[in-house]
Amino acid sequence: MSETAAASSGPEVRSGGCLPLCGKIRFTVTGPVDDPHICACDHCSKRSGAPFQWWLGFPLAGLVWTGAEPTWFDTHPGKTARGWCPACGTHIAARDYGEDKTIIGILATALDGYGTDPTLVPTNLNRLPEAAPWLTQAG
Ligand SMILES: [Zn+2]
Ligand SMILES: [Zn+2]
Repeated sequence: MSETAAASSGPEVRSGGCLPLCGKIRFTVTGPVDDPHICACDHCSKRSGAPFQWWLGFPLAGLVWTGAEPTWFDTHPGKTARGWCPACGTHIAARDYGEDKTIIGILATALDGYGTDPTLVPTNLNRLPEAAPWLTQAG
């Protein structure tokens, strides 16, 4: 589906959620990808159980929850919250509080077909050496 969206001249629409786990969370995002990056900060590492998470930004106005909405936890109270599926634990999104915030953070792994969409390839590696110094040696 994402290949079709990328190849068309219309708005970029992508779907996602927590499949292939429980599937309760479903959403669509419309609009171009903003700042695809991986982040190895202590919050990303601790919550994911992995050395880093793979983040994408999308226009907040283009986000529609078509299934259940994630459960949110304030990782930085009053500033940032992260959302996950309360049933299967899949990490889905992060949002910043504030009327001026126009971007929602979506984990690439929450998108359907994320592995085949070339527009999602990370262009920034945020704090990678902090979490796993061996990663840069692993090739
Ligand atoms: Zn789920
Ligand atoms: Zn992070």
